[in-house]
Amino acid sequence: MPIALILVDALSPTYVSRSTLPSIVDLARDGFTGPLANLYAYRGIEATLFTGRFPSEHGVWGEFRPSLGAERASDRLMRLMIRAGDLLPADRLRFDARYIAHRLNRSHQPLPTVNLIPPRLLSRFSRSVETPIGQPGSLGLHRTLFDELRAARRPFELVGYPVVGRDEQIVPHVRMRLHQADRPDFWYIKFSALDTLGHRYGPDTLRLGPALAKLDRQLAELFAMLQSAYPGGEIDLIVVSDHGMSRVSRTFDIRPLLKRANLELGRDYLYFLDSTTIRMWSESQRVLEAFARCLADQPDLRILDADARAGLHLPDDDSSGDLLVALDEGNVVFPDFFRRQTPPAGMHGYAFVQSPSGLPFLAVGPALAALLPSDRRLSHVDVWALMRRRLNLAERRDAQLANESVCTFSS
Ligand SMILES: [Zn+2]
Repeated sequence: MPIALILVDALSPTYVSRSTLPSIVDLARDGFTGPLANLYAYRGIEATLFTGRFPSEHGVWGEFRPSLGAERASDRLMRLMIRAGDLLPADRLRFDARYIAHRLNRSHQPLPTVNLIPPRLLSRFSRSVETPIGQPGSLGLHRTLFDELRAARRPFELVGYPVVGRDEQIVPHVRMRLHQADRPDFWYIKFSALDTLGHRYGPDTLRLGPALAKLDRQLAELFAMLQSAYPGGEIDLIVVSDHGMSRVSRTFDIRPLLKRANLELGRDYLYFLDSTTIRMWSESQRVLEAFARCLADQPDLRILDADARAGLHLPDDDSSGDLLVALDEGNVVFPDFFRRQTPPAGMHGYAFVQSPSGLPFLAVGPALAALLPSDRRLSHVDVWALMRRRLNLAERRDAQLANESVCTFSS
């Protein structure tokens, strides 16, 4: 059975009701709508959805990881440009300056510029995933659903950034694609607008009302178009989100603490400030301990030791830091490497989520709901298993992996 997986970035379960998103409620009538288990990861969520493996296995966790290797001359030039751009008076202008620098840099693996990582740290980090998820071998040894479809010579289509720049372009793009030959067996369609708005307004369905109404119109049109394009309406529609949106109630500035501990960036440590997570690297155990002591009397955060990391399925490598600090839900690091000017009203990426609005979401019709386990909270891994089953890929995986390992060992 063909499938359209429609991922709505940051769609919270609390946004979905008959009055806000009737298209989703109708799709899932007598089926399943509800929360999924929280997955503590950033870039890694998509990798889990398309491999059925946790970050501890596929290795993708944050948006950025520490990078090895020396800085290239072109990167050095770009860093200088970004340093100049960072003098601009607003985050929006700083982002634009970085975007321009990013477009000008033609090196193979450009610096991770489209954010606010301090210029002098730019060469110390690289993106966790350099290859878009649908590309062959995007996750190395771990075969994605796209790798499996490709091997089975089944056509698929990805509709999201950068194929479309804005959500409004999704429906026209799908319509255009449906006019071509070889109708896809699998669609991955990604709506992005809600994430930005959730950060700006928080998980507030009143303020998000116009955006939800617009999304509902786009979804209704998309569902109808896909169902009429496949004979007998024979296509499975899945609506899923990567994460929800938690209300932010407190900001946490890390800089005074570091100053008080007399620790100096570059000399003593390297750090990365995600909104919900502080990662610190240092060769000195003394530095790590000093910082941990400073944090000990801070409320609403916790240092995740090896056991806690394993329990959260984090990769056991240097990507999650020598010291990993997770903020409790509702707290954000501010300023961080993504925002300097205005703190967000909503955030995701928490290790532990208690609020219903912070969890990811799933909606499927009755035929698919009947195949889902009913004895526990569902996860993105269950969505992956469901997709493979409906695409008849269930038997293929092990055979392929066996083949692959034969090739690997014999080469
Ligand atoms: Zn976001």
